[in-house]
Amino acid sequence: MEDAGGGAPVPPVYRARARGILSRTGGFIRDAGFTHSLTPARNCTYGCTYCYVPTMRIYGGLRPEDWRRWGKFTTFKENAAELLAKELRPEQIVYCSPLVDPYQPVERRERSMPGILRALIARPPAAFVVQTRGPLILRDVALLLRLAEKTRLRVSFSITTNRDDVRRRYEPRCEPIDERLRAVRALEAAGIRTFCTLAPILPCDPAALADLALAASAGDVIGDPLHSRAVKRYGATTRAEAERVSAAGGFERWHEPEFQAGVAAAIRRRVETAGRRFATGVEGFRLLTL
Ligand code: SF4
Repeated sequence: MEDAGGGAPVPPVYRARARGILSRTGGFIRDAGFTHSLTPARNCTYGCTYCYVPTMRIYGGLRPEDWRRWGKFTTFKENAAELLAKELRPEQIVYCSPLVDPYQPVERRERSMPGILRALIARPPAAFVVQTRGPLILRDVALLLRLAEKTRLRVSFSITTNRDDVRRRYEPRCEPIDERLRAVRALEAAGIRTFCTLAPILPCDPAALADLALAASAGDVIGDPLHSRAVKRYGATTRAEAERVSAAGGFERWHEPEFQAGVAAAIRRRVETAGRRFATGVEGFRLLTL
């Protein structure tokens, strides 16, 4: 591994030609109203301990080396923009991405998203949603603004806790919460409709987390708790690594549905008192398509 500066190692980055770039949605994302998803790379170098993607295995379009070595490398689809030019249609509602963060740090050098955004500007779908936690998105504000003139553009920015000590335990390779909130404020100030998405809700002070979201963005607030295999017997679920982190920190309750409901209720009270909407799960993600 080379050094990215500041002592941070850069994970290996590979490139491959994909056969297609837009996938018809199923399950949660389809139920929320998205017709297609766009995934610019396979495997995500943020490598969050709770990430549900590697638990989907081949159903998430992964190869065994991806789920065995989740977060250790990534493979960009080098012909993404070229494929998009052929596959985009005006009626599509596109979610980018359920399987990777499009602004994972190695995107700084790879520069896959500018080409993708230019392809979208040339053939805009009905709506395009960027799901990210990467402040690197600010690099592309000018392109995002051009796209917003042609489609319903929404940015869903992941803010998972108000506690940076918790963030370091569960998502040590992600940027600090303050930096992410600054990115949300900068997107909003630029005129890009941005939602704070509290997903998954990590151990936090629920009212304080709601206040951070309300202060950073003028939009409604979306939430989703950690998924639990005990409740969700099939499909994507929280990685076992997050359960180990929770056990080490004494945070086991944050995986329990009853406790999670109490946390969500506390966030909802705060958000609704401020005159905004708070929704979880499918209802929450549906807010992004409107
Ligand atoms: S940023 Fe998203 S896709 Fe990437 S590892 Fe974290 S949860 Fe998974």
